Amino acid sequence: MQTNFTPAQLADPHVAESEAILRKCVHCGFCTATCPTYVTLGDELDSPRGRIYLIKDMLENGRAADTETVTHIDRCLSCLACTTTCPSGVDYMHLVDHARVHIEKTYKRPLKDRLVRTVLAQILPYPSRFRFALKAAAFGRPFANVLKRVAALKTFGVMLDLAPKTVPEPSANAMPGTHAASGKRVGRVALLNGCAQPVLKPGINEATIRLLTRLGIEVVVSPGEGCCGALVHHMGRENQALAAARRNVDAWLKVADEGGLDAIIITASGCGTTIKDYGHMLRLDPAYADKAARVSAMAKDVTEYLSTLDLPAQDPRGMTVTYHSACSMQHGQKITMAPKQLLKQAGFVVRDPAEGHLCCGSAGTYNILQPEISEKLKARKVKNLAATKPDVIATGNIGCITQIATGTTIPIVHTVELLDWAYGGAKPAGL
Ligand code: SF4
Ligand code: SF4
Repeated sequence: MQTNFTPAQLADPHVAESEAILRKCVHCGFCTATCPTYVTLGDELDSPRGRIYLIKDMLENGRAADTETVTHIDRCLSCLACTTTCPSGVDYMHLVDHARVHIEKTYKRPLKDRLVRTVLAQILPYPSRFRFALKAAAFGRPFANVLKRVAALKTFGVMLDLAPKTVPEPSANAMPGTHAASGKRVGRVALLNGCAQPVLKPGINEATIRLLTRLGIEVVVSPGEGCCGALVHHMGRENQALAAARRNVDAWLKVADEGGLDAIIITASGCGTTIKDYGHMLRLDPAYADKAARVSAMAKDVTEYLSTLDLPAQDPRGMTVTYHSACSMQHGQKITMAPKQLLKQAGFVVRDPAEGHLCCGSAGTYNILQPEISEKLKARKVKNLAATKPDVIATGNIGCITQIATGTTIPIVHTVELLDWAYGGAKPAGL
């Protein structure tokens, strides 16, 4: 694609990077076929190609974001299906990241939207605030339908609907500390505790710690680590996202320098995609660029790491698992085979749903901010998953678990919960 940025504009490294990305796009439109919003809405401006044109126009003219551009960028799930499809290697992820930061800096959203976004950014990344908010939601839930009928309050009604009815007690495993390997130690890893997942499903990291320590891996929950920053990163709140990244880089490198680390294990693929991008996010910070690149190089999804451990094949269990590949897993991190191979090796029959490339509509805070599109995508995903008639659905991202669970009675668990069970751990709750 031809671009017309001035040398002065290109002196800004963010603009220069976006220009290089834009120039790779050849307008072919292949990406439209796999874009969930284009497939759902049928509007070119809700396709990757349409958004690329909008971003180009906004950046090239050095203008503030307008309502049309914001509307269509906000509808993007950041699912990155377009990056998997694109034959020209267009790095849409970093382009839309830049666009979101530009929007945040130059566009004044309506008061209600600003309020909702501030509430999300100030609550979700902090486990104690999030837990408190979920418990408080029990009092507001009877009013959810009333709130959803009032345009200005609709988002709060959606939030109440999405809040789980019971909130598990915090897990002792989420506290900073070291979980010793059983028997001879063959490895040492840090485990991201993070923010929302340990509040919603603490059993996922408990299963991870049980499985890894049984396999001889020492697991460290690092003091000082927290939310990876993905939630605010996708809202364009770059300072908050970079602060989260720097805090985690410091926490993990301290542990790595003290006792060595083979990997930083992540059990939520949405977080994994962001942590693997820390090197890029902090590339312009001389104090953190090298350190962040080191952390990104150590970041591994738990299934990626387990694949290196040569787990023994288990007897068939007579249980059918349909594997839902989270967008951040298959498109963000390009991990497609490892989780399914591990499940097969563990004795499960593994099935793939139709349209596995399409997002379930969770996408961080998307199901709160864009509930109509999210609901359509959820219904489509649940229909495809149910058609495979599984005993259980497995996936590697807490957002997908929460989203899909509200649309089906088929149990849905994290892949590592099934693996822990197959290799001597507890049966996952709900099975
Ligand atoms: S990230 Fe997903 S929703 Fe956004 S343009 Fe790409 S395919 Fe479409
Ligand atoms: S597939 Fe790639 S090159 Fe083709 S229009 Fe989409 S982003 Fe551009």
